[in-house]
Amino acid sequence: MKNADNEVKPVLIISSDGGPDENPRYRKVIAHAIGHFKKYDLDAIFIVTNTPGRSTFNRVEGRMAPLSRELTGVVLPHDSFGTHLDSSGRTVDVSLEENNFKKAGEILAEIWSAVCIDGHEVVAKYIDPNNDTSSVSDLPAEGWYTEHVRESQYLLQVVKCDDGDCCSPRRSALHMILHNRFLLPSYPITQVDGHPTIPNPEEHDGKSFAPFLIRYCLPIQPLHDFISCSTCGIYFSSITRAAEHRRAVHSALAAPARKVRPSRIVTRRATELLCASDNGLEWLYQNKVKEQMILLKITWTCWFQ
Ligand SMILES: [Zn+2]
Ligand SMILES: [Zn+2]
Repeated sequence: MKNADNEVKPVLIISSDGGPDENPRYRKVIAHAIGHFKKYDLDAIFIVTNTPGRSTFNRVEGRMAPLSRELTGVVLPHDSFGTHLDSSGRTVDVSLEENNFKKAGEILAEIWSAVCIDGHEVVAKYIDPNNDTSSVSDLPAEGWYTEHVRESQYLLQVVKCDDGDCCSPRRSALHMILHNRFLLPSYPITQVDGHPTIPNPEEHDGKSFAPFLIRYCLPIQPLHDFISCSTCGIYFSSITRAAEHRRAVHSALAAPARKVRPSRIVTRRATELLCASDNGLEWLYQNKVKEQMILLKITWTCWFQ
């Protein structure tokens, strides 16, 4: 991770799983990536994830298998400081529940900290949610974002710009490889009448994609779809982000802000909702989701309690 000067190397590539807390198209993941980009003076940070069903190709997932094995047969006590439940299993003492949860977390961390994977020590620590200092501010100004960030379904890119007043000098020769600063999107390729072309998705076998160098040599690009900005052509991985971009950067052309109406609300945390729609899953702030959807969720929650 670090060079001889004890600095984080200038180009950081993270391969993550596609779960709701780590998917590179989710707002907080992007905000954290930008935080790392600035904090460590990176030339670029790339976060990649596998398509659904292909987590098995994620090396980190494979590395985590020994951690699951260590938990075989382990029973974490839920009442280290006394039970916080009544006879029906309902919580009657929230403070005691938090202390019991903390104790169980510390035991878990202790078990994992004793593990060594391929000669590498495992460092596990219980983080009290009330003392979590990892929070970062929301996304930066849209102008900065448009210049430095490209997002897509499976790849997030944050790259230094060429303006010396904005970004510090590059520490690597990445720009010698990526002349346009960003990686071009991956697309399938075929030949029609001797000319390379991009087939329609329904005509493609899902296997043959244009390699990196071919993508840089050929003057063809995939067509933008409905979540690309129609003015500047930048692709966004969610309708919400594309709309935010249009409002901030091309405000004269943009439609007024509308609340999102997801098909289903999967779960919630603090002020955010994990919403399902035709565009997949997306964490949205509660105030950006249609109220009747929230009421529906609350009704169902009460029904099952
Ligand atoms: Zn810059
Ligand atoms: Zn635009």
